[in-house]
Amino acid sequence: MAEKKVKIGTMWLCGCSGCHISITDFHEKLLDLLEVADIKFSPVLMDVKYDEIPDLDVVIIEGGIANDENREFAELLREKSDILVAYGTCAVYGGIPGLRNLWRKEKVIEEAYINSPSTPNPDEVIPSEEVPHLEERVKPISEVVDVDLEIPGCPPKSDFAAEVLMKALNGEKVELPTTNLCEE
Ligand code: SF4
Repeated sequence: MAEKKVKIGTMWLCGCSGCHISITDFHEKLLDLLEVADIKFSPVLMDVKYDEIPDLDVVIIEGGIANDENREFAELLREKSDILVAYGTCAVYGGIPGLRNLWRKEKVIEEAYINSPSTPNPDEVIPSEEVPHLEERVKPISEVVDVDLEIPGCPPKSDFAAEVLMKALNGEKVELPTTNLCEE
């Protein structure tokens, strides 16, 4: 009888989707991965609904925690998954979205909705109910939930990331190099 496949999911929080592109860049290694794993959900394949996320063996998360929706997804995915992988520099350190930590949250909101020349908003309306609420600062995932494996890089090098993920899926020990992990 064929061995049971590992159930995996991928998710993006506060990122640019570039880390997911790096997964599609696994090329033929993606086929190796699909031999041992079933992708149960991924925002590049489907609309991911909060109340439809199944139990998983492994979840791979791109992006850090910038708002309450990111936090709720991270907490749910932690509950649902045996192994949580923080994938990419935003997920591991906060990354580029973390630049907003140089300013207070109120100032960031004011710049986005009122001062930005590309946002016509004569009534200076700041949405409060309809959009997720910003956290005080952008955080790496590990500040919000326990993380089992961190793969930094902006985005991570596809060859290396594929190798690391395959090892993790096979329950092998993973060691990260100390040199550049970013795609060039
Ligand atoms: Fe995008 Fe880089 Fe962040 Fe990945 S680490 S989500 S590629 S900015």
